[in-house]
Amino acid sequence: MNDFSSDRTQDARGAASVSRLDQWLDHLALRASGDDKPAVLVSACLLGQPVRYDGDDKRHSTIADVLPRWLQLRGTCPETGIGLPVPRPPIDVIETSAGQRVYGLDGRTGDVTDALRAETDRLPANLSGVILKARSPSCGLGNTPLRSPDGKVIGSTDGAFAARVRERWPALPAVHEEQLVSAADIEVFVLSVYLHRQRQRWRRDTWPAPLRDAVSALPGDTGARLRAWLAR
Ligand code: SF4
Repeated sequence: MNDFSSDRTQDARGAASVSRLDQWLDHLALRASGDDKPAVLVSACLLGQPVRYDGDDKRHSTIADVLPRWLQLRGTCPETGIGLPVPRPPIDVIETSAGQRVYGLDGRTGDVTDALRAETDRLPANLSGVILKARSPSCGLGNTPLRSPDGKVIGSTDGAFAARVRERWPALPAVHEEQLVSAADIEVFVLSVYLHRQRQRWRRDTWPAPLRDAVSALPGDTGARLRAWLAR
């Protein structure tokens, strides 16, 4: 028997085990007090802001309604941040002779690659994680369609903003919304954000043995995934 033996894994979409996650944060001595929650950057459309190219949003109830219990969510939209209007013509990531560039295949939006990458200059320094919109030419994390100049899909890639986030902060926990489905998905992300913040505060690259031991005691899928994350 361990400290977590009375908990059951929940499989309801978006319904993280609130009591279990709090219990695990206590076990790792990471629970935030008061307003001291880790800051996490979120694509603004996932929080319900109508900033998409079509004037719509992509509100994600788990992110917008469940995660604020543990995280301080900070919305940003790199495309409106660089001055693109709402609504706006769609843009794509295109493989060119000059590398991957982001622009409108219909010719109505010029090359915004450098501007989107530069949007990361405006991000707060104290971020402990990011949640970005899947498949976006700006925010996508690995699953954005990569197109040839004539519009054919030839692969998958990061959006321009997301690529720069990964370059600048390679250790930052980063997910897209399709990676936050099960209770274990949510638990692993929240715990990794808290662990990352703790490492930022310690200003060290390695994990102390007592913390590794504490993570080793976490059971099930969440424990295994968190140990793998720690070992990266
Ligand atoms: S740029 Fe990012 S935040 Fe803005 S609408 Fe597109 S996916 Fe959402």
